[in-house]
Amino acid sequence: MIEINQDVFDKEVESNELLVLDFYSTECPPCEALAPKFDALDALYGQDIRFVKMFRQGNRDLAEKLGVRSSPTLLFFKNGKQVGDVLTGGIRRSDIMRNLDALLPEARVEQIHASIRPIDTETEVLVLGAGPGGLAAAIYLAQAKVDTLLVDPLLPGGQVSTTHQVSNYPGFIDPQPGYMLAHNMAEQAKVAGARMKVAVEISNIDLKKKEVLIDGHETIRAKKILISTGASPRYLNVEGEKEYYGKGISYCATCDAKYFHDKEVVIIGGGNTAVEESEFISKFASKITMVQQFPYLTANRSAQEKAMADPKINILFSHEPRGFYRRGEKMAVKVENLETNEMKELQTDGVFVFVGMKPNLELINDPLEKDQWGYLKVDHEMRTSMPDVFAAGDVISKQIRQITTAVSDGTIASIVIARELH
Ligand SMILES: Cc1cc2nc3c(=O)[nH]c(=O)nc-3n(C[C@H](O)[C@H](O)[C@H](O)COP(=O)(O)OP(=O)(O)OC[C@H]3O[C@@H](n4cnc5c(N)ncnc54)[C@H](O)[C@@H]3O)c2cc1C
Repeated sequence: MIEINQDVFDKEVESNELLVLDFYSTECPPCEALAPKFDALDALYGQDIRFVKMFRQGNRDLAEKLGVRSSPTLLFFKNGKQVGDVLTGGIRRSDIMRNLDALLPEARVEQIHASIRPIDTETEVLVLGAGPGGLAAAIYLAQAKVDTLLVDPLLPGGQVSTTHQVSNYPGFIDPQPGYMLAHNMAEQAKVAGARMKVAVEISNIDLKKKEVLIDGHETIRAKKILISTGASPRYLNVEGEKEYYGKGISYCATCDAKYFHDKEVVIIGGGNTAVEESEFISKFASKITMVQQFPYLTANRSAQEKAMADPKINILFSHEPRGFYRRGEKMAVKVENLETNEMKELQTDGVFVFVGMKPNLELINDPLEKDQWGYLKVDHEMRTSMPDVFAAGDVISKQIRQITTAVSDGTIASIVIARELH
């Protein structure tokens, strides 16, 4: 890969009709994840497009001039002008290819795509999902000298990487930024010898054949598969929800209730989780307003009775949230009264959303046994109903979903797998 610096940038852009520039940094896991993809695409498109990279910290003036604030950042140039997307973070091969294809005539794009050779990759264990469950498993497997490959459509870390502070993971006296904890787990897995293919496009998972297709052309074949794809909160899909996710809106009381000591909180939901979590949050908050879409709570009776008797909890029945906004230090929740269609705004210090979670199993079509909520059923050794397919973490049917429990499941699965393989 050709490395350039800011002194020759103008000349490079002028003398090459088409150019793609990768601003990278050292000690940057997403840059490391991008490097092999960038090299492979250079081999594919290099005849038509010049591929160059530049060390961001050593070329700050140009980076600033081009508005580049993080590494990696990929920029595309045509006839001296910047075109296409600015790609940053966990950059996928398909996103780069879309931008490269847009620079070339259609016929040439077809030729290039036709020249892509399929790749076959073998591994003993394929771990689907590089969250805490998958990473813990990978650490144990790799340390047991089991050939292990982790695959994730995002960067490693799972839900932890988007968690502001983690204060309940043992081994740290002070709360840890989630992204650091995630980073350390991922590095530990790499040091142990686990391979990783992250920020990839997963298009097909065949558990029976133990085959997974990534980036459209690479088939990974394994002897055993561990599913640790986690779970995602169900979203309300209203204005401001994405913007304030983790910055005023939380989906985890165990994790965040402690930050609302003597503060006011709005809880969205009225089912078992919402009502039970409201009891927990009530240990910290001074006032709780529950927003429930039905004219009654849907939690079990004893939980309901407790919530109704709690003087800190006030329930707005037949109301639904319509938007979240920041008003200075406070959050505001716009709610609609479903009986009168009247809108009003609730001012609060923070919002908790408890309208359910869902397991990340969209790409898995094999008939695995699941519970009534769609989570995977496993035995005490983390075996699913399919031979040589294990599962761990938030994706399995269980009561408590935390980092420690995901790590525990991953540990059990990996030790059982390692014993069977070697
Ligand atoms: C905002 C928030 C704060 C939290 N705070 C805490 C806390 O303070 N303490 C605590 O103990 N717990 C906390 N939790 C819960 C904790 O993060 C989870 O229990 C834990 O991350 C579960 O780990 P996991 O590996 O099972 O799944 P996840 O962390 O969800 O990771 C799953 C991974 O699988 C990947 N994936 C998804 N689909 C596929 C696929 N088809 N193929 C391959 N990979 C796939 C995802 O991209 C992801 O990287 C919090 C959760 C949230 C949402």
